[in-house]
Amino acid sequence: MKETDILIIGAGPVGLFTVFEAGLLGLNCELVDNLDKIGGQCIELYPDKPIYDIPGVANQTGKEHIEALLEQIKPFDYNVHLNTRVEKIEPKEEKWVVKTNNGSEFLTHNIFIAAGAGSFESRRPPVEDPDKFLGNGIEYAVRDKSKYKDKEITIFGGGDSALDWSVELAKTAKKIFLVHRRDEFRGAKHTESQMRKLVKEGKIELKIPYVIKDINGTDKFEGVNLMHFESKDIETISCDEALFFFGLNKQLGPILDWEVELKEKKIAVNTENFQTSKDGIFAVGDINTYPGKLDLILCGFHETTLAVQEAFKRINPGERVPFGYTTSNKGLQEKLKVNKN
Ligand SMILES: Cc1cc2nc3c(=O)[nH]c(=O)nc-3n(C[C@H](O)[C@H](O)[C@H](O)COP(=O)(O)OP(=O)(O)OC[C@H]3O[C@@H](n4cnc5c(N)ncnc54)[C@H](O)[C@@H]3O)c2cc1C
Repeated sequence: MKETDILIIGAGPVGLFTVFEAGLLGLNCELVDNLDKIGGQCIELYPDKPIYDIPGVANQTGKEHIEALLEQIKPFDYNVHLNTRVEKIEPKEEKWVVKTNNGSEFLTHNIFIAAGAGSFESRRPPVEDPDKFLGNGIEYAVRDKSKYKDKEITIFGGGDSALDWSVELAKTAKKIFLVHRRDEFRGAKHTESQMRKLVKEGKIELKIPYVIKDINGTDKFEGVNLMHFESKDIETISCDEALFFFGLNKQLGPILDWEVELKEKKIAVNTENFQTSKDGIFAVGDINTYPGKLDLILCGFHETTLAVQEAFKRINPGERVPFGYTTSNKGLQEKLKVNKN
């Protein structure tokens, strides 16, 4: 079981800034997110949109904002665990044990729930037992590109992910089938043009207008049945892998079982330190609620700054929290210098 000062659930902007504030006080963090990348909503929902209300930054896209936060926390002591969902929280004396879906366990004084709107879950295809071959032929995200080399792959979806991965995997795959219910794509026009060029070159076969009907295979994934959207005719495709990009659902999921006080599907907090109804469990960013709450990044930054002060007190009872301006924080400046060299 790994021990840490702060276990942060959610690697969105507020989870990342928690690492910074904790680092200033000499605390280490473990950051857990069920997505396959860091950045929460900024990366998953609007990487290319400019944000205009980060103080002191005229504008920054979602992606640039996350890159800047990652740069800012470089000097500090933290680890990130992606594709990992926190499932259970249990008390152990003054501390908490945190258990994840893939079997890891953490022991900590402080849990920071920075879970935004809850965990993003990939939408499943509307077939019986869609996860039967999960990881063995069926995926909802590309975790390792090399797995698809020289394979026949069926990709479903009409947005950016389906287009991006069709174009990218076509470079090394044996064959790509791209399945969509209509001949219109929601993704970037530039990527759509690249995809159509690859169709002309015979590297991608477009299956339009088709939808998924069945996933085939008894002990082993064998391929998919497609249904023509208008005639309802069935076509069988044999392939090695299928990737479904049907978007994401936001779910509170396991948070509902953690017995922290909820108000209208958000976590109620004390605004003095952003602690929940349980000592040592804090909720910061979009996941919390209190009178006057705004779902803005800068509000989350304020919340977690105060919460980290309380977290320090829980680890060091009776000790004064070492407040200081970063302009005069010699330790931080030394670390930044070492990092630069
Ligand atoms: C289109 C759009 C535009 C926006 N523009 C602005 C803007 O201009 N300015 C602004 O201030 N705000 C803006 N926002 C809002 C802003 O993005 C959010 O306030 C911010 O992302 C909240 O950050 P967070 O870290 O609290 O949560 P999130 O960014 O939602 O990150 C939470 C993370 O926690 C993970 N998670 C949840 N549950 C679990 C679990 N059980 N286990 C593991 N991981 C879990 C999720 O997968 C997610 O990655 C915008 C939002 C959208 C959708």
